[in-house]
Amino acid sequence: MSGHENTGVVRKEDMNIPDEERIEKGPVVIMECVENIPCNPCVAVCSFDAVKMKEITDTPEIDFDTCTGCGLCVTECPGLAIFVIDCSYSEDKCKVTVPYEYLPVPEEGDEVMALDRKGEEVEKAEVTDVRKSGKTYAVTLEVDRKNVWNVRGFEVIG
Ligand code: SF4
Ligand code: SF4
Repeated sequence: MSGHENTGVVRKEDMNIPDEERIEKGPVVIMECVENIPCNPCVAVCSFDAVKMKEITDTPEIDFDTCTGCGLCVTECPGLAIFVIDCSYSEDKCKVTVPYEYLPVPEEGDEVMALDRKGEEVEKAEVTDVRKSGKTYAVTLEVDRKNVWNVRGFEVIG
């Protein structure tokens, strides 16, 4: 078995993800939250009411058509499990916004090494936005479109 229960690494097929049409429309949230833990900041922070849960131990239910991809939930998730992807603006590139709690914090325009969920190197990527809320930053990277489902972190280089 190679599911996240055995490897600790979430796969695309483990997640509830938006369809291709929604992905092409604009930025949209990706919640890689697959455990039934008592947690709901993602519900509380979304002023668009795009995230719902019946019980606090449920995994989040996302209305992808209501989600604006604003990214506010990225910095609120204690599990660092929320990302925003934007593939609407280019045929070759996508933006991936990831939570980040390390130092040094990169700046817009920096080149970083994009990493996958296992921490393995994927590609060099440019930082296009850095936002902070509390102790967590939301850092947006521009990556090759083919890597949008792989890149979920980065390390500062240089
Ligand atoms: S990205 Fe914004 S609109 Fe979408 S779920 Fe998160 S807070 Fe709500
Ligand atoms: S805040 Fe994060 S860990 Fe908690 S339920 Fe939402 S997505 Fe899952």
